[in-house]
Amino acid sequence: MQKVSVIGAGTMGRGIAFVCALSGLSVSIQDKYEKGIKDCQTYIEKQFKRKVEKGKLSSQEADEKMENIHYHQVIEQAVSHSDLVIEAVPEIMDLKVEIFKEMDRYAPQHSILATNTSTMSPTEISAQTSRPEKCIALHFFNPVPKMRLIEVICGLETSEETVDLSFQFGELIGKECVKINEFPGFAVSRMNCLIGNEAMNMVMEGVGSVEDIDKAMNLGLNHPMGPLELADLVGLDTRLKNMEYLHQTLGEKYRPCPILTKYVKAGHLGKKTGRGFYHYS
Ligand code: NAD
Repeated sequence: MQKVSVIGAGTMGRGIAFVCALSGLSVSIQDKYEKGIKDCQTYIEKQFKRKVEKGKLSSQEADEKMENIHYHQVIEQAVSHSDLVIEAVPEIMDLKVEIFKEMDRYAPQHSILATNTSTMSPTEISAQTSRPEKCIALHFFNPVPKMRLIEVICGLETSEETVDLSFQFGELIGKECVKINEFPGFAVSRMNCLIGNEAMNMVMEGVGSVEDIDKAMNLGLNHPMGPLELADLVGLDTRLKNMEYLHQTLGEKYRPCPILTKYVKAGHLGKKTGRGFYHYS
């Protein structure tokens, strides 16, 4: 596997693209919006600069790796020579299905098509492609350069070869993979969304302040980050979509907390907009 394409250059897509390029892969990244591309380029340059400052890469190595990253607004150009295409567009089923149809149309026949969905069915996302056996979910975690896990989720028709190649890809980019059977929210999102939602309900009920609830989980259970700070990092819009899908598929206990809905309506989406449960400069 030498060429990877990433569709959607947001929080996750840019992290996945950076990690792949760092591991020596040739990367094409596509976003529908010019701003998405520009912000992604700024992020990737900053990440490489940091590696050079820390002495982990020479500036020549960083330049070479950055030259191996290609930015596109047109999906056809981004995927036409790819061995693996990873979709990281917003958590909306109809959008993912449409993007998968385009990935299928333009990517070479041998390419694996992967979704980075946090909760949704890879079977449904890939059902309208001509190659469901080559489709899979590769669920990365945020921030991608730091988090070591990839959840590998097979759809109904995913072949063993696709699973094996996905594990090999994970190893190549320095991640650990776990194989999870398809079920809404897989393993991590299903548990993590519930913890975050409960923390939001507790803020609403006045059980404690945002800071104290996070501190309690941080120091009491050794979570490296409190659930509210984590929700801000994920993006409250993304988290709300995750909760809505889990509520719809798994039932009442996943009903999104009203505070979450209110913040998203107000445009307070967490770290990426400068305001969520916390304020960011
Ligand atoms: P995001 O909103 O930060 O980024 C999405 C990107 O997709 C944006 O840059 C947007 O411009 C682009 N986009 C929108 N429509 C597009 C289209 N038609 N074609 C190409 N690009 C398009 O979202 P995100 O947080 O990166 O989430 C992406 C996926 O990753 C979701 O499925 C989410 O559930 C999953 N995920 C998110 C996290 C997280 O912590 N944020 C963690 C794991 C998985």
